[in-house]
Amino acid sequence: MAEKTPDFETLQIHAGARPDPATGARQVPIYQSTAFVFRDADHAAALFNLQEVGYIYSRLTNPTVAALQERMATLEGGAGAVCCSSGHAAQLMALFPLMGPGLNVVASNRLYGGTVTQFSHTIRRFGWSAKFVDTDDLDAVEAAIDENTRAIFCESIANPGGYITDLDALAAIADRNGVPLVVDNTTATPYLCRPIEHGATLVVHSLTKYLTGNGTVTGGAIIDSGKFNWSNGKFPALSDPEPAYHGLKFHETFGPLAFTFNSIAIGLRDLGMTLNPQAAHYTLMGIETLSLRMDRHCANAVKVAEWLERDPRVAYVTYAGLPSSPYYDRVARICPKGASSLFTFSLKGGYEACVKLIDSVNLFSHVANLGDTRSLIIHSASTTHRQLTEAQQIAAGAAPDVVRLSIGLESAEDIIADLDQALTQAGA
Ligand SMILES: *Cc1c(COP(=O)(O)O)cnc(C)c1O
Repeated sequence: MAEKTPDFETLQIHAGARPDPATGARQVPIYQSTAFVFRDADHAAALFNLQEVGYIYSRLTNPTVAALQERMATLEGGAGAVCCSSGHAAQLMALFPLMGPGLNVVASNRLYGGTVTQFSHTIRRFGWSAKFVDTDDLDAVEAAIDENTRAIFCESIANPGGYITDLDALAAIADRNGVPLVVDNTTATPYLCRPIEHGATLVVHSLTKYLTGNGTVTGGAIIDSGKFNWSNGKFPALSDPEPAYHGLKFHETFGPLAFTFNSIAIGLRDLGMTLNPQAAHYTLMGIETLSLRMDRHCANAVKVAEWLERDPRVAYVTYAGLPSSPYYDRVARICPKGASSLFTFSLKGGYEACVKLIDSVNLFSHVANLGDTRSLIIHSASTTHRQLTEAQQIAAGAAPDVVRLSIGLESAEDIIADLDQALTQAGA
């Protein structure tokens, strides 16, 4: 009988982890060590020349972080993965080998607020730019791509409204234009959505959210499908001789691991946005229960969204898991196990009612985070999306009369009871 391929539920516990060779420790140890002893001078030279894979210095590689990288690559179905210090670091590190002065990324206009800011302002300091488009308008996406475009960037389930992106359609456009599709899969996690199966080249994550799952870690990851042809003339950092490695050509030398090796050898080495082993350990433990948590997050979100939709004080609810959502049909195709637990709703009482509601909740925490065991609430327009213009806020689904929820793992009845009393107090 052919050996069975392990299921997601098994891989989330076992991928990347093996009993510690030195001690037999069953849980992945926290290798809290800056440096690793070389066997001899030849071993050291081989490691520095990238002729042998091993541990040198924890800015580059660390065994605890490596276990997490292997688990993330496995769960996303990629060839390799690199972890880094935050989701925002992952976005920069994903774009870093692709971009250069004068080059641009075509990005969805429905993104995490911090990403809109990073792409609108900060990347300009590198001479890069972003062109924001409505990714539901495929003609607009195609039209935005020019000879200086080096990536298309979107979120699989987009913040803050929980909209579902048609990844297959964007991947086809990316393919035709010889550029990678980069998908931020933070809100979905690989349990709900596997962007590489829909044609994505790179997947980026904020480990900070559902993956760790309990609000204890800041971290990020980039997973490479290993399938993109980096030698099509547009990506010299990956195809051409690298002067800092004696003329090594990453794509020619490392094939499907070209992006991953480049991200470690150049990205982490020189940008230094490294994940620490303690954070990697918390994230590994969080991922062990990812499927269980995501099933419950989704089930709770459906109950809360259905209740809100029926409430006369509520103008509308954006949750894609509701049959009334224009994105409902895409859930089955893009994230068949559920639409995650992040969505917004609008209050008939407008901005004032939103602010009062947030000051009236008890169970919900008013924080700028998502994907926690706890239910979280925020008024995006005055916080996470505050740096955006009102037009950008409306396009992003963060209009002034909208509140964002991240539904946690408490009982759905308790979550609903808290919203009910807060809506009453808000006089919404
Ligand atoms: C939080 C978040 C980020 C940024 O991640 P950090 O870990 O906070 O840097 C990026 N994208 C999405 C969708 C997020 O939710």
